[in-house]
Amino acid sequence: MVTAYDCTFAQLIDRAGVDILLVGDSLGMVVQGEHSTLPVTIEEMVYHTRLVARARSNALVLGDLPFLSYQTSRRDALENAGKLIKAGAEAVKLEGGRAQAGTIRALARADIPVVAHIGLTPQSVHRMGGHKVQGRDEESRQRLLDDARAIADAGAFAVVVEGVPLELGREITALLDIPTIGIGAGPFCDGQVLVMHDLLGLATEDHKMPRFVRRYAGLGAQVTAAVEAYAEDVRAGGFPSDAESYHAPRAAGAAAAAHEPQTCGRMQEIESVAGMQRWADRQRALGLRISFVPTMGYLHEGHLSLVREARSRGDRVVVSIFVNPIQFDREEDLISYPRQPERDRRLLEDAGVDVLFAPHPREMYPDEFVSSVNVERLTERLCGAHRPGHFRGVTTVVSKLFHAVKPHVAVFGEKDLQQLAVVRRMVRDLDFGIDIVPGRIVREADGLAMSSRNARLDAQGRLAARCVPAAMDAARLAVARGARSAEEIGAAVARVVALEPRARLEYAVLCDPLSLEPAERIDAATQIAVAVWVDGVRLIDNVLLDPTETSPARLARHESHTPGEGYESVPVEFLLAELDRR
Ligand code: AMP
Repeated sequence: MVTAYDCTFAQLIDRAGVDILLVGDSLGMVVQGEHSTLPVTIEEMVYHTRLVARARSNALVLGDLPFLSYQTSRRDALENAGKLIKAGAEAVKLEGGRAQAGTIRALARADIPVVAHIGLTPQSVHRMGGHKVQGRDEESRQRLLDDARAIADAGAFAVVVEGVPLELGREITALLDIPTIGIGAGPFCDGQVLVMHDLLGLATEDHKMPRFVRRYAGLGAQVTAAVEAYAEDVRAGGFPSDAESYHAPRAAGAAAAAHEPQTCGRMQEIESVAGMQRWADRQRALGLRISFVPTMGYLHEGHLSLVREARSRGDRVVVSIFVNPIQFDREEDLISYPRQPERDRRLLEDAGVDVLFAPHPREMYPDEFVSSVNVERLTERLCGAHRPGHFRGVTTVVSKLFHAVKPHVAVFGEKDLQQLAVVRRMVRDLDFGIDIVPGRIVREADGLAMSSRNARLDAQGRLAARCVPAAMDAARLAVARGARSAEEIGAAVARVVALEPRARLEYAVLCDPLSLEPAERIDAATQIAVAVWVDGVRLIDNVLLDPTETSPARLARHESHTPGEGYESVPVEFLLAELDRR
């Protein structure tokens, strides 16, 4: 048995298959905001009984007779019970034991089915001196057993037993032939009843729950979160959207449209960690899945491909733009890191991003900040060997971003192979419970992996940078021609980079893509990762080398998502000839 006070909830609860919907005088507290059930009138009970009865439930509709609607006389009891029945109740409930036996008998004689209510009877709150457990001493136990016998003899078809020790609940249940329905009366009653607001967690957080309540949901918090989200959307101009609006017929609309702003901005911008967390908590309370793409901005198609991946994996997409000062090992690199916030904002809005999280460095690292997150071993090789402190900066900021955004899933590009491996390890080691999804490398038409840092190259440098994808091609060619040792493959890469006078190879390493363990030979698919300096700009790239591949497709054609415009790639034929020549 569950209480219900209106049609919507009666339908929802009935759909769950409960046996009895109780239109309780508890509505005094949960609907009317009173401190007890005493102020509730028969007219109010009739009104709510009618609302619940309209749900046309399968469950039996039971209406409470409120305080002083039946204690005054049998005639009043009959008249008021009749009002509830006429409003749609199929049975009525009244509080009291032996004292009400005569009334129960009179109602039963009038064919009004009666449920009695004994133990802690809320309408007697003042006599009991509060909502106190009953039947704890021997005398009151005996009195309750006598009450139970009396109401059953009088013709009640069931009895609610409230606020008694479980031993007494069991005793009363064993004593009676009619079913007992317990609330705070232990597990041995034939049935149980809870107030719907308690069961669904609709009460405000500061409301102290009695011991016998078990919350099966936290709908109160969800309601607040949903309305907060709605209000925020309205204030930010994100609701209603174009799709949620009516449109004038075409001709009339065209004239009006010229005078109206066309954008329905829906992307929200959040700058504080606390604000981000509040937003994330609300989405989670609503059961929505948050997808996250961390970036340092100056966005390109590579970033946007991650956003599309994120969109396909969650209900809400958050992108962060934060140029993380603690992952830069060189001050000048941080200062010269390209920034274009307005364009980034537009791109993200067009990509359907829900939230741009763009905290100020002081928000992320206040003066007193001294903590860090570090992943051992994995960070010692490749870029880690050449950029002291870089990965500690990455794992620290990614942890902080995860705590702010609280995503279910986060997308990281394979372009930063080591970063992906390190973040995956950290998430597993530290039990972040976030799904880390890789995103493929997006390249320019000539095969150069897209990167914000490419913008720092001048035209000559940009041409020279083609040696990086060319070196990747060379590695694949070498493997296709039978090279298997790291030495041979590394040499092929080094030769191609050496052809370009503006370029300097920092490392070329063969390794396992997950553990980053260096490989001496390639017998299965193995990653090659490189870092190359071109005109003082550090470029990284990687590709999977497959020893079963005999005629590798060119990287540019194979992987680019943006063919067409741009630089010509270095021809494979040229590379072949160069490799043969040397
Ligand atoms: P960044 O803004 O450079 O920190 O990069 C943000 C995310 O975008 C990282 O997960 C990168 O791996 C990813 N990313 C960068 N460049 C590319 C690219 N060319 N293709 C795919 N993902 C990329």
